[in-house]
Amino acid sequence: MIRSSLNPLLRSRLAVQSTRPVTPLRLGRATFATSAPCKLMEMTGFTEEQITVRDAISHICSKFPNTYWQERDQQEKDPKEFHAALAKDGWLGIALPESLGGAGLGISEATMMMQTITQSGAGMAGAQAIHANVYATQPLAKFGTPEQLETIIPNIINGTWRTCFGVTEPNTGLETLKLKTLATRTSDGYSVSGQKIWITCAQVASKMILLARTTPLEEVKKSTEGLSIFCIDLDRDHPGLDLAKIKKMGGRAVDANEVFFENYPIPQNTLIGQENDGFKIILHGMNAERCLLAGEALGLGYAALEKASQYAKDRVVFGRPIGQNQGVSHPLADAYMKLEAAKHATYHAARLYDTNDGSVPFHAIGVACNSAKYLAAEAAFTACERAVLAHGGMGYAMEYDVERYLRECFVPRIAPVSREMILNYVSEKVLGLPRSY
Ligand SMILES: Cc1cc2nc3c(=O)[nH]c(=O)nc-3n(C[C@H](O)[C@H](O)[C@H](O)COP(=O)(O)OP(=O)(O)OC[C@H]3O[C@@H](n4cnc5c(N)ncnc54)[C@H](O)[C@@H]3O)c2cc1C
Repeated sequence: MIRSSLNPLLRSRLAVQSTRPVTPLRLGRATFATSAPCKLMEMTGFTEEQITVRDAISHICSKFPNTYWQERDQQEKDPKEFHAALAKDGWLGIALPESLGGAGLGISEATMMMQTITQSGAGMAGAQAIHANVYATQPLAKFGTPEQLETIIPNIINGTWRTCFGVTEPNTGLETLKLKTLATRTSDGYSVSGQKIWITCAQVASKMILLARTTPLEEVKKSTEGLSIFCIDLDRDHPGLDLAKIKKMGGRAVDANEVFFENYPIPQNTLIGQENDGFKIILHGMNAERCLLAGEALGLGYAALEKASQYAKDRVVFGRPIGQNQGVSHPLADAYMKLEAAKHATYHAARLYDTNDGSVPFHAIGVACNSAKYLAAEAAFTACERAVLAHGGMGYAMEYDVERYLRECFVPRIAPVSREMILNYVSEKVLGLPRSY
C-alpha cells in the first residue's frame, strides 16, 4: 500500500526533531554531514513518508561522521551510541505496529531507513548494529503472546534490550531445514543444546530470536516441520551458554559469534507461536529481510560512488582530472546505472511486500524480494570495487572509506541467503528448470 499522508506517530516525532536548529527537514533533499551531499541517487518516485524517513535518519546519522565508523571498525568497538540515538527517537520500531509502540510503517520505509544508514558512511556496521532489532522482532510482533508483546517489544524499541537472530549453524549452512540445535521439553520449559554461528551482536544482545528443532528431523514427515522459534534471554553467566567472537573481514564494529548451547534452560514462555510451527513463522519475515538487505547494499554502493565521483573530479594526473578519462568515468557511469536499476527492483519488491491485501501472490513477492537482494548486492559490489580502483593508491587507505565499503559489501552477497541460492530459486521457480540441489 502506498501511503499518501504521514503516519501520526512519525509526524509527531518529526515535529519534535524539527525544533532542533541543526538540519531543517526539507522534503526531497537529504543532507549528510558525513559524506558528500546525496545528489547521485535519483529521488523521484519515492513516497512522502520514505523521503521524510530519509531526512530524519540522515539527521541522526550526521552526528556520526565517517571518522566515528573508521575508529569503531579499527578498534572493533560496538557503536552503542548509534544504536541508542536511533532507539531514542523510536526508529527501531519503524515497522512495528503503533499499538505496540512502533511507527506502524512498512518495509518500504524500513528499507529506506536502512539504505540511509549505510549511505551516510555508517556502512554495513551501522546497519548491522540495529538490523535484527528492526527485522527479527517482526515474527514476535505477529505471533507473540500478549505477555511477550508487553514485556519485550517496548524494551527493544526503546533500546533497553538489544536482540540478535540465531539461525545459521556450522554443519548445516544454507540447508536451514537440516538445523540440529535441539530444544527438548522439560517440566517448566525447554533445554537447548547445539551450536549457532555468525550470530551478529550476540556479545551485546540481551535477547536472541532462536530457531531450533523441537522434534528431531528423523521424526518429522517433512523437513519444514518440527522447528520452533523462541525469544530467549542470553544469560552469559548461566552454565550452558558460551560465545566465541569470530575475527572477520569487515563491519568489525559489530561482533559476529559462534554460540554454544549445552543443556541451556529456557522457560516455556519464550516460545513464539505454536511449537513446531517455527519455519512457517520465520518464512513470513524472510522476504522483508531480503528488502532490508537490498536497501543496505544500495546505500553502500551509492556512498562508494559518491566518493569515487568526487575524487575523480578532484584528482589531477597528466594535467587533467582523472574523471576526464573515459577509462575512469565509464565504469563509474555503468555502476550508477546498475545501482539505479537495483533501486527500482528493491523498492518495487518492498511495495509488493507491503501491499498485504492478498492481491499479490506470495510467489511474486518472493521472486521480487530475492531478485532485489541479488541485484542490489551485485550493484553495490560493482560500485565499491570501482570506487577503490578510481581512488588509485588512496582507495587502499582507511581515510578514504572506500576500502571499508568494499570489505563490507560482501555481506549482502553472502547473507542471509547467497547469490547462488537466489539463482537456484529463480531457475527453479520462475524458469521451471529442474531443482539443482
Ligand atoms: C557478516 C555476517 C553476518 C551474519 N549474521 C548472521 C546472523 O546474525 N544470524 C544468522 O543466523 N546468520 C548470520 N550469518 C550467516 C549467513 O546467513 C550465512 O553465512 C549464509 O546464509 C551462508 O551460509 P553458509 O555460510 O553456511 O554457507 P554454505 O551453506 O556453507 O555455502 C557455501 C557456498 O556454497 C554455495 N552453495 C551451497 N549449496 C549450493 C547449491 N546447492 N548450489 C549452488 N551453490 C551452493 C553457497 O552459495 C555458498 O557460496 C551471517 C553471515 C555473515 C558473513
